[in-house]
Amino acid sequence: MENLSDYKEIVEIIRESGGEGFKYCYQCGLCDTVCPWNRVRSFSMRRIIRQATFGMTEIENEEIWRCTTCGRCPQRCPRGVKIIESGVALRRVATEYGVFPTPVKPIRGISASLVGEGNPLNEDRKNRGQWAQGLGVKAFSEEMEILYFPGCYLSYDPRLKKVAQATAAILKKAGVDFGILGTEENCCGESIRKTGDEALFRRLARENIKTFIDHGVKKILVSSPHCYHTFKNEYPEFMVHFEVVHMVQYLMELVDQGRLALSGEYPKKVAYHDPCYLGRHNGIYEEPRRVLEGISGLKIVEMPDTLEESLCCGGGGGRIWMETPKGERFSDLRLKQAMAVGAGVLVTACPYCISNFEDSRLTLAEGDDGKSPEIKDITEIVQEVI
Ligand code: SF4
Ligand code: SF4
Repeated sequence: MENLSDYKEIVEIIRESGGEGFKYCYQCGLCDTVCPWNRVRSFSMRRIIRQATFGMTEIENEEIWRCTTCGRCPQRCPRGVKIIESGVALRRVATEYGVFPTPVKPIRGISASLVGEGNPLNEDRKNRGQWAQGLGVKAFSEEMEILYFPGCYLSYDPRLKKVAQATAAILKKAGVDFGILGTEENCCGESIRKTGDEALFRRLARENIKTFIDHGVKKILVSSPHCYHTFKNEYPEFMVHFEVVHMVQYLMELVDQGRLALSGEYPKKVAYHDPCYLGRHNGIYEEPRRVLEGISGLKIVEMPDTLEESLCCGGGGGRIWMETPKGERFSDLRLKQAMAVGAGVLVTACPYCISNFEDSRLTLAEGDDGKSPEIKDITEIVQEVI
C-alpha cells in the first residue's frame, strides 16, 4: 500500500468525517469494555484508530471492517470521541484505494448490484414490487396518506417478504391510504455508506430524493431501522426533509387513534430485541413495547442487555454482507439470552436482526428446553391478532 504511505491523508479524512475528537481520547478503554466483539474475541477500535492517526495501521488489515456501528462505545465515551465516524473514515480510505480485505470481497459484487439494480442482493430491479402481487397494493400517488418503503430485504428476501406482506395487511385493515414505488424504489444506501463507499451512498441518496420529489412524497413509512436512520438523519445533508416514521411508531399511532384493534389472543412469552438503529441511534424503545403490551395473553420478558444496552445482532456497518465465523456471532449470544429468560418468541423490528437470528436459530444447538425461540417481526405478531 505505498499509495497510503502518506498517513496525513487518513488523519485528514478522519477529521473531515467528524472524527477529529479522537485527539481528546485519553485511552481509558471504556469503549473496549462495552464493545460486543470483546464477548467473542479480542478487538479494540480505539487501538486501530489511534494507530492509524500515528501512521501505524496496515489499512488492509481486516480489523477495520469489524465494527458494526452498534453505537455502544460512543454512548460510553467520557470524551465525546466520534469512534464510529473515525472507523468509517478509515474504511473510506481503504475503499477509495480499492482495498477490500478477504472476508469482505463480496462487497465489490454488492456495489455493482447497487449501481445496476438498486439493491445489494443481486436481484433484478423489475422484481422489486413482486412481494405485493395479489395483495391489492397500489402504486404511490401524491394524494395518498403515506408512502410505504419496504427496503431491499423486505422486497426480495423470501423470509422477509412476509414482513412486507404483514405490513400491507395491517395498513389495509386500518384503512390507511398508502402506496409503494415498486421498481422506482432504490436501496437507501445506509449500509454501503458505513462500509466507506461514500460516492455510492450519495448516488443512491440522490436518486431516491429525486424519486420522492417527483412523486410528491411527504411522509414515508419504513420497516428497516437502517432506512429510518438514513432518511431521517442523513438525507437532510442534501437539504431535503421528509417526514419519516418507522412501523413500530406507526403501529402505536394506529392503535392509539383507534384505527387498529388488537383483538386476538397471543398467549406466548415474548422477548423484544432493540435494534441498534431504532434504539440507541434513534431513541425508539417505548413504542414497540407499548404495542406488545396491548396484546391480550402476550407476556413480555426482558433479556439482559436491553434498551440502551441492547446487544447488537452483528448486522450493522455493512457486516450483514460479511461472513462471521461460528463462535463469533452476536446473534447466537442473543438467542441464548432469549432462551435463558424463557421466551418462546424473539421479536424485533429490523430485517438485519431477523436474518441473523434466523441463521442462528438454524445453526445453534437446541436449547435447554429443547427449543430455540421463534423469530418474529412485530408486524407478524400484530397481523395474527387483528
Ligand atoms: S472511551 Fe473515549 S476516551 Fe476512552 S479510550 Fe475510548 S475513545 Fe478514548
Ligand atoms: S460501535 Fe459497537 S462494534 Fe463498533 S467499536 Fe463501538 S462498540 Fe464496537
